[in-house]
Amino acid sequence: MLKVALSHDVDRIKKHYQYITNSFKSLSKGNLKNALYHYLSCFGPEPYWNFPEIIKIEESYGVRSTFFMLDETIPFKLFDRKNWQLSVGRYKISNKKLNETVQFLDKNGWEIGVHGSYLSYNNESLLKKEKENIENIVGHKIIGSRQHYLNWDETTWKIQKSLGFKYDSTWGLTNDIGFKENKILPFKPNNDYFIEIPLIAMDIPFMSIKNRWERLKTLMDTLEEKNGIFVINWHQRVYNENEFPGYNSAYHRIIQECKARNAQFLTMSEIYNDLEKNWIL
Ligand SMILES: [Zn+2]
Repeated sequence: MLKVALSHDVDRIKKHYQYITNSFKSLSKGNLKNALYHYLSCFGPEPYWNFPEIIKIEESYGVRSTFFMLDETIPFKLFDRKNWQLSVGRYKISNKKLNETVQFLDKNGWEIGVHGSYLSYNNESLLKKEKENIENIVGHKIIGSRQHYLNWDETTWKIQKSLGFKYDSTWGLTNDIGFKENKILPFKPNNDYFIEIPLIAMDIPFMSIKNRWERLKTLMDTLEEKNGIFVINWHQRVYNENEFPGYNSAYHRIIQECKARNAQFLTMSEIYNDLEKNWIL
């Protein structure tokens, strides 16, 4: 039976400079209608706040997912353009509305994980602080992690393990879907009970593939055959169809295709508990 773990990295909760940059991008492509939309969307409901939409979708299918929350604190650097994307418009983990939403999710069957910040993949004290801050919101220990931008080096798993994480799901491709280094099944990187559960398909690379549905079907066939876990990451901000055309409906279709195979939907921690209990690693 195919096992599916839906997940959402929560990178942003508020559209910020994108009102302007997306507007200019659309203008440069000659798309005046889109340019106007991006500009005018700053007057409407917040396009990057999609928790209610995700809850509604998942409720309607009777499934639950895992939300990886980001506590990004990287300082702003004026002369480093790459830094802007990380530091400008980020959210504060202490945001009251966000805290209430996270608590609601945690109490109603969704799982909260830690989306380790951009520089925390090799910085134990930083990741420790982030883990504690998010644990303080839910009021209990958190066992799962995924690093922002899928940043990783050989120290990452050791740091995560020593901080009390039981699984990670950073192992995945950033510009394609499928199996990174052909690792299909969850594995034990440190040869102990800490498990890496590979990420199989992420929204942005998936949506840019021409024959994406055939590619996805092949991946699902392989996972079903080999007893793998179909881990999906659909970012929290992509559910507004005006902002990210096709992403919301693609998420529906993925769930429907999994349902058509009688797949079992589990949160990431349920996957972990299952693997540990059944000792198939
Ligand atoms: Zn991220």
